[in-house]
Amino acid sequence: MHFGGKTSNGPLSLFVDGVFRILRKHAPEVGGGGFVDDLIFWLFFLWHGVCSGLTGGCAQCIANAEVAKKRERFVDDMLDELHLERSDKDVPVGQLGIFLGVWIDSHNGRLKLTDAKWEKLLADLRMVMTWEEATPRMASKVRGKPINYSECIIMIRPFAVPFNVFIGGARTVGDWDTSTRV
Ligand SMILES: [Zn+2]
Repeated sequence: MHFGGKTSNGPLSLFVDGVFRILRKHAPEVGGGGFVDDLIFWLFFLWHGVCSGLTGGCAQCIANAEVAKKRERFVDDMLDELHLERSDKDVPVGQLGIFLGVWIDSHNGRLKLTDAKWEKLLADLRMVMTWEEATPRMASKVRGKPINYSECIIMIRPFAVPFNVFIGGARTVGDWDTSTRV
């Protein structure tokens, strides 16, 4: 979906919640989530044991993918009915895809950063090493990454702690842009 930067917070998340509420009512077998205006949908189905997945030709996974394609059409129609334009980031139904710069392998249960996101993360951390002074706002932008990517990179979450310490407790709006020595 396309939304401007200014609407990408409270009002938009309420709106997106509404979309999922409608979806749950009409197609409870479809789950989903969203980050700002990027939405992801998945099909719930019963565990059928260790299998070779879509790429390995598992008949059950193939049957599930057919159902998922039908449900995708339903979701697309629903979004059209709500006048929600879809962007060209649409990914075909499958067990492997990229969402928000993260490889999602739903067959093996793995999440992995794309090379581009990994490089950006390293570049941001290297940049932190050059800081002599920083504002809480600068620190909070980098802190979000070890937290958000903790599902993809084992043991990265504790690296958010130095940022938490630097940012400290509740502050006034002005404090967010006040520089202090790192
Ligand atoms: Zn299977």
